[in-house]
This record gives sequence, C-alpha cells and structure tokens, in this order.
Amino acid sequence: MKNCFIKTAVLLICAAVFISCSGKDDHKPQDGKLNIAVSSYVPYTFAKSVLGDTVNLTLLIPPGVEAHAFEPNPKTIKEVKQAQSFFYTSNHLEPWALKIDKKAVMLAKNLPELSHQDPHVWMSFDNARVMAKNLADYVAQKYPSLQGQIQPRYNTFAVEMESLKFLYSKIMPTCKNRTIYHIGHLAFGYIARDYDLEFKALFSADMDQEPSTKEVAELVKAIKDNRVKYIFSEEQLNPALAKTVSKETGAKILILNTVEGVTKEDFEEGKSYQELMLENLKNLAIGLDCKGE
Ligand SMILES: [Zn+2]
Repeated sequence: MKNCFIKTAVLLICAAVFISCSGKDDHKPQDGKLNIAVSSYVPYTFAKSVLGDTVNLTLLIPPGVEAHAFEPNPKTIKEVKQAQSFFYTSNHLEPWALKIDKKAVMLAKNLPELSHQDPHVWMSFDNARVMAKNLADYVAQKYPSLQGQIQPRYNTFAVEMESLKFLYSKIMPTCKNRTIYHIGHLAFGYIARDYDLEFKALFSADMDQEPSTKEVAELVKAIKDNRVKYIFSEEQLNPALAKTVSKETGAKILILNTVEGVTKEDFEEGKSYQELMLENLKNLAIGLDCKGE
C-alpha cells in the first residue's frame, strides 16, 4: 500500500513537471490570444499599430526606464519565456535580447537606411516602415489566421509613414534656424540628415558618457553667441541639466521624444510612434522658427 502511494506521488510530480516544462505554447492565455514580448517602446508601438488587439503585448523595458542602460532581470526572462514570440530593435540597442532568447526576432534588418554609429534607426520613416513590415510579416507567416487583420493594419501604417515624410519634407525646409541644440543624446541623427539640419547634442548616441563641464560650457556659449531662443531636451532625461542651461542662456526648453523609452503618462495614453513623431515635428517647427508650425 505504502509502495503504491509512493508510485502515485511520483507520477503526479512527473505530470506536474511535464505540464510546466513542456514548451511555450502551454503558456497560452485563457483569452486564446498570442503572447508577444517586445524589448523597448519602438517594437511595442509598431506591434500595436500592425497587430492591434489581436495579440497580448508585454513591454519588457518598463515605462520610465532608460533603454540604453537596461539590463534584463529574472522578471524579463520570465516574461520572454511566457511569450510565443519576442521582438527587439537591434543588437546595437539591445545586445541582451539574443542572450536570453536565441529565437528573438530583430526588426532592424533589411533596412534601406543604415548608419553603423547610430542605433536610432527608426528615426528614418523608411526604416520605420520596413521594421513594422518585418514584424507584420513574421506574425502573419507564423500565425496565418491573423493575416487578414494584419495586412490592412500594415497598409495603414505604410500610408502614415508617407504622410509623416510629406509633412516633415514640407515644413523642415522652411525653418529659419537650422541647428538643433539638444540637451540630450544623439538620437535624432537621421532626422537631421534627412532634413538638412545640424544637430548638436551633449550626450553620445549610446548614452554611455556624461558630458564634461567644458562641453556644457561650449554649448552654453554657442547658444548665447547665436541668440538661440529654444533648446531641446528629451522625455527620459533628468531635466536638471536642461534647466540649468535654460537659466544661463534664457532659451526655453522644448521636448523631443526619442520613442525608445516611454513615460508612464504616454504609455497609459497609448501614444503611438506616429503621434510622438508629430509632436516632435510641432516642437521642431516652434524651436527652429519654421512656417506652418
Ligand atoms: Zn537612444
């Protein structure tokens, strides 16, 4: 009898282990939707646009956390394990992605525009369209039943990218000031290149170095010498430095959104890439004195 009890217990334990370890599809949520994990806000907002509510999305880098310095923790790894697919931007921005999931899908591939020094590839609208297409194609191919919902959504996204390109190309050439003085990092290199602007930023593209006192002093001097009325900063950065520069120069601060991270407020509002890039255009138009601001 005792022996029989032990055998039953062993079987039950084996069954429990089998159920909990038998692969990702066992984590399918009760609503029947796929679980998709995304690294940062860029793949998150692209996935929202092209997949809508057809899937459950998990954002791994939480709102309010800076994307460049992020390191995965046990919670990140658990969330990736619970997902059927995991999308990330690039090995440059998220070198940890492939380390925690060899099957992670990189969106920044086959890009029409590529600068190896600048990981902010989504700041080119042509790149953004291709990244969203890579995501849409992957999900539609893996889960063909979703194809009918994904394709029209991707088509709309592609039209929206053309509209953004059109608006930027209409407004940017009218700007009287051509230099962006940015109390932030080199995240807008593609915009500067595409619309013939000069971009002076205090932090490097990878946010790995604090600016020196000399660099800050030089930027302050340039702002004063050129009688700049508006300087720019960014949503995820401690505002103290921008406030100091603003106080010293009299220039007002406008915000540019890098999209790589997201504030808690923007996340709750569900702000899309399209909306954030329109807000950027509005602030650039004010700050650079453009027509149609
Ligand atoms: Zn960045």
